Amino acid sequence: MLYLVPTPIGDLEDITYRALRVLRSVDYILSEDTRTTQFLLQHYQISKETRSFHDFNEHGRLPAVLADLKSGKNIALVSEAGMPGISDPGFLLVRACRQEDLPLTVLPGPCALINALVGSGIPTEPFHFEGFLPHKKGRQTRLKYLSGLDCTFILYESPHRILRCLEELITHCGPERPSAVCRELTKKFEEVRTANLGDQKKYFENEGVVKGEFVVVVSGR
Ligand code: SAM
Repeated sequence: MLYLVPTPIGDLEDITYRALRVLRSVDYILSEDTRTTQFLLQHYQISKETRSFHDFNEHGRLPAVLADLKSGKNIALVSEAGMPGISDPGFLLVRACRQEDLPLTVLPGPCALINALVGSGIPTEPFHFEGFLPHKKGRQTRLKYLSGLDCTFILYESPHRILRCLEELITHCGPERPSAVCRELTKKFEEVRTANLGDQKKYFENEGVVKGEFVVVVSGR
């Protein structure tokens, strides 16, 4: 069985009893970032082999992982934080397992987009999850597409690009569009700012060096 195991996005207590039991019981853990995973495992006194599985080696690793699953091994997949497969490795492995009829299950757990959406005060249904915008090619095309959506949409953004992202959202959606900028969710300095895009930009311009990880939730057209 392959287990997709979500891990905390900030607060180490955000992990289920079942997730811990699975991490204890599998033969090994595929991990996007083995250092972060070892830190989590040590916190819960779990001693388990981790093997790296990230964007740059997942294609190469697939045959061996599939062979292990076929031979009856139990494997967990975790990402650096949150739900594997959401802006993180997972999709390729899941698709291969489905194609080969290998058993897998997804454990419920932390996912930054869900926390942001539910706490945003912006309608939660329907919604579109965009993930990260492309940095260069195709970025404006995606922004144009998003600006025309009549449902809530959600972006992941890094601290270095949050200001640029807000500026571009204003260009495409206008400064009046309601939004929520969610930072450091589940962490000590969690902040959810609800304001129109124009006010969000002014706030982050005044902040100087911007820190933290961001989810941006924007109201539909
Ligand atoms: N798999 C993760 C999930 O389930 O949410 C997402 C991984 S993606 C590589 C990392 C991005 O998720 C960050 O750049 C940020 O946009 C968002 N993110 C993750 N943790 C967050 C947090 N605690 N607060 C705000 N955003 C977060």
